[in-house]
Amino acid sequence: MNRLSLSPRSLPSSAAVLFSLAFALSACSGAHQATPAPAPAPAPGAQSAALRIAERYRVAAITTRRFTPEAYWRIVGPLVAKPGFRTEEIGRSLNGRPIRAVTFGEGKTTVLLWSQMHGDEATATMALADIFRFLGEATGDSVRERLRRGLRIVAVPMLNPDGAEHFQRRNAAAIDINRDARRLATPEGRALKALRDRLSPAFGFNLHDQNARTRVGRDGKQAAIALLAPAFSEDRSYNAVRTRARLLAAAVAQTLAPEIPGRIAKYDDTFNVRAFGDNMQRWGTSTILIESGALPDDPQKQRLRALNVVAILSALDAIATGRYERADPAAYDTLPFNATDGYDLLVRGGRLVLPHQAPVAADLAIDYEDAVAHTGPIVRDVGDLSDAVAVDTIDATGLFLHPVGVLAYSDGEGTWLRLGAPATIEIRRGADRTSALVRRIGHVR
Ligand SMILES: [Zn+2]
Repeated sequence: MNRLSLSPRSLPSSAAVLFSLAFALSACSGAHQATPAPAPAPAPGAQSAALRIAERYRVAAITTRRFTPEAYWRIVGPLVAKPGFRTEEIGRSLNGRPIRAVTFGEGKTTVLLWSQMHGDEATATMALADIFRFLGEATGDSVRERLRRGLRIVAVPMLNPDGAEHFQRRNAAAIDINRDARRLATPEGRALKALRDRLSPAFGFNLHDQNARTRVGRDGKQAAIALLAPAFSEDRSYNAVRTRARLLAAAVAQTLAPEIPGRIAKYDDTFNVRAFGDNMQRWGTSTILIESGALPDDPQKQRLRALNVVAILSALDAIATGRYERADPAAYDTLPFNATDGYDLLVRGGRLVLPHQAPVAADLAIDYEDAVAHTGPIVRDVGDLSDAVAVDTIDATGLFLHPVGVLAYSDGEGTWLRLGAPATIEIRRGADRTSALVRRIGHVR
């Protein structure tokens, strides 16, 4: 059953105009220019319009990033039962859960998308549901028509349903499917490879979530999105297949940049002989990796989900129109690399107060158990951390850090701070436990 309501007049024309603004600014001049020119910068506000459309077709029954395969297909099944779709089972997981591919469009260019190969990476799976809804309901929309006529879109949401059931990265045998592209020991990996061999897609979308602790370059912001046109060989050279992927990645970067300035990174392009993205490129499918990281105040990745809709739909439209060929490769090449060497939170400049001891100058490094939702803070390091980096920093200069609960303990020998313990800390004005409270980190137990 489709529980979503949509007013009849919310469907076609205005949405089509906004979409055209956002996604197809240069589509009319086509892909046949003799001298490729850099794509024009998107019009100010156009991405916001696209985001509004991502909101309009949001599948309301999906509200959190953790859901079971059964729940997902119960919601998505009716969306892809509409005219124009075909759904087929392409295999079964180790524990017998169906793996399904959804096909839409009658065009000559085949595009294969797969998400949640890692079971705890669900952002693009949510976005694919929204895209199915758009394709099924926005009949008459010009972008939808371009995609239908120009492309054959084949999407495999949730390639790893066993992993998704437990919200864990690996499959039921604890094998990382994205390290199984060479051996093909897993039924999930084999299903994807067989589908690729049957379709010979021109383009591939490898859709993942990355560690929320990742920053855009060492001193940059938390990475919301990381892009990669994977290498197909150790020397990381560019052939025609990878060059097309680079241009597509550049087009995605250009589309997203105004929405999340400074929050787009480039993923490490070291060749991995066991990974699917790299091998897809080697097998002749121009493949891009889209990694969703995290955004502040987006604990369920719902804003990232909308940005995924924008990224994927704009990329599909760029393929359908040929517009991607005129993207400026520098928009991809100049992205800073992901930086993963930092912490979630640094508390700098304070003095640590343990009972019965003199305060000691100490920075604190803290990681969250859930770096997306900022729950479960753990103390990772203490001392002079002037050179460390983190997603967030608290300046505690002149203030006093009072450990609370199990973070500090006393025995017959003295008082001790316990590294790796839950970080419950009160930042106070003075060394006295009763001085004014400035801020609290973690929950008091
Ligand atoms: Zn992944």
